[in-house]
Amino acid sequence: MSNKANWKVIYDPIKCTGCKVCVDLCSEKTVQIEDRVENFEFMVCEGTCNGCRKCEEFCPTNAITITEEQDNGNLGKAQSKEVVSYGRVLYTHCKGCNKLMKPFPEVVYQKKLKGQNAVYHEKSLLCPDCRRKVMAKDLRK
Ligand code: SF4
Ligand code: SF4
Repeated sequence: MSNKANWKVIYDPIKCTGCKVCVDLCSEKTVQIEDRVENFEFMVCEGTCNGCRKCEEFCPTNAITITEEQDNGNLGKAQSKEVVSYGRVLYTHCKGCNKLMKPFPEVVYQKKLKGQNAVYHEKSLLCPDCRRKVMAKDLRK
């Protein structure tokens, strides 16, 4: 018998970079990310998670936690396979060209990178195009 409805995805938009590693790893298509004009949206297809925990294990910023939900009367609702929006992350402006981009969460920098590489922090404020240009310039020095 399937136990799919017992698993719950807990998502923290403050930590999410929108990298989509979780989306690529999820064999059940439980987690989805929609790119919009000024934000991206993280969505969960309720009742489809099989509890494999791959998303939790490989999320680089610990933005996802998988828990086993006790039967509190809500499990029937979860089996409806409804896609629910779990969080919306606003884009920020690139410090180089001002283009909108997915932000690198400050909370992640503070926890994982602070003190290790201040230059990396500067680069995290740039869009991928500007970051490439700066890195190419650094290589020419
Ligand atoms: S939840 Fe984690 S793996 Fe998924 S998009 Fe956000 S940062 Fe990437
Ligand atoms: S635990 Fe597995 S099935 Fe559930 S959302 Fe994560 S990757 Fe998908």
